[in-house]
Amino acid sequence: MSYLWVFLVCVSSCPSHEILHEISQDLFPVRIIFISSGDSVPGKLVTAKVEDCSAPRARGNVLGWTVKQDGEILPEVFADCAQVRDLLGDSRFLGQALGRVLAHEIFHAVTKRESHTLGLNSRTFSREDLESPGLLLPARDLKLFTYSLHQM
Ligand SMILES: [Zn+2]
Repeated sequence: MSYLWVFLVCVSSCPSHEILHEISQDLFPVRIIFISSGDSVPGKLVTAKVEDCSAPRARGNVLGWTVKQDGEILPEVFADCAQVRDLLGDSRFLGQALGRVLAHEIFHAVTKRESHTLGLNSRTFSREDLESPGLLLPARDLKLFTYSLHQM
């Protein structure tokens, strides 16, 4: 069993319970453990930040992103709540969609790769992608993800 600790930060109020549930489902069988402080767990920790739902970050129509330092992707991922909400319109799936965007970025952060394939690792997401019942990582990506986790 592999474990990954995720520290979820919401800039404004966000459906955190649904977000955490979605990340756990999307990245199964890795066991996602949510913590309330970013500095209590060394290694295997990703900080996932949900930006303010009322103010887009003005990054075009980007739903989520990672940050790099010296060419390496850091274990810190972001979702733009306002952009995701714009894409969904009035939807009860906001928490699921945000969780899915964050799970996608967590995949980049853990594998340290920016390339895309299919499913949860697609380059772009449509409204349907974010609202449909299950968007999986392709088997090879899931293998890469669990392998990379052991290297962290
Ligand atoms: Zn991506």
